Amino acid sequence: MAAEYENLINSLIKDGFLVRPEITEAFRAIDRADFVPDEFKAEAYLNVPLSIGFEQTISQPLTVAFMIELLEPKIGEKILEIGSGSGWQTAILSRIVSHNGASALGKIIGLERVDELKEFAEKNIGKYGFIGKEVAKIIKSDGSKGFKEEAPFDRIIAGAASKGDVPEIWKKQLKIGGRIVAPVNQSVFVIDKIGKNKYNKKEYFGFSFVPLVKG
Ligand code: SAH
Repeated sequence: MAAEYENLINSLIKDGFLVRPEITEAFRAIDRADFVPDEFKAEAYLNVPLSIGFEQTISQPLTVAFMIELLEPKIGEKILEIGSGSGWQTAILSRIVSHNGASALGKIIGLERVDELKEFAEKNIGKYGFIGKEVAKIIKSDGSKGFKEEAPFDRIIAGAASKGDVPEIWKKQLKIGGRIVAPVNQSVFVIDKIGKNKYNKKEYFGFSFVPLVKG
């Protein structure tokens, strides 16, 4: 691994953003440089968002670490990701739920509305074999509607911000005992489904995300 990437990961550990061993291991295994456009390779290990075109960004490493730690993904789980963008987070989650791509374990369904980004993510994730092994799947779809074909999900994570609250349909498509981690306005919401129509909500303030575009 590049020394600069090791430095980035060590600073995320030191600052308390990366905590769990399986999440830290997945960050190490999935090199961010494989998910940024060629012109930004030199900046891949900076703790900043970078352009991936179409007015979208690969998220800041700090934010991806923070949100995956809140999500608490486990091996064998089925997770819906809304707005897969570069596919970096998709690949990190794939590693965690499948234990390095072993098939017939967990599954990540990534939804992306921009055709070219779907292809970009597939190419990037493909470098790690998760698509061939059917651990990761990217679908061109409006994530604000969730994805009923594969529901219910153990967990749902979004990379683009809803206004006011998360779409109600995400809560319906979540298993009881499951969790949503999603940006809403300038915050990250953590929503736990504790009963059929019962939810607990926590809010973490002070983030910046691209908007969830409906339709
Ligand atoms: N974690 C990703 C973040 C990408 S930015 C990464 O690090 O690369 C958010 C993504 O959400 C963008 O690719 C954008 O096109 C997508 N998006 C926005 N609204 C969407 C919607 N309604 N359905 C699916 N994808 C959406």
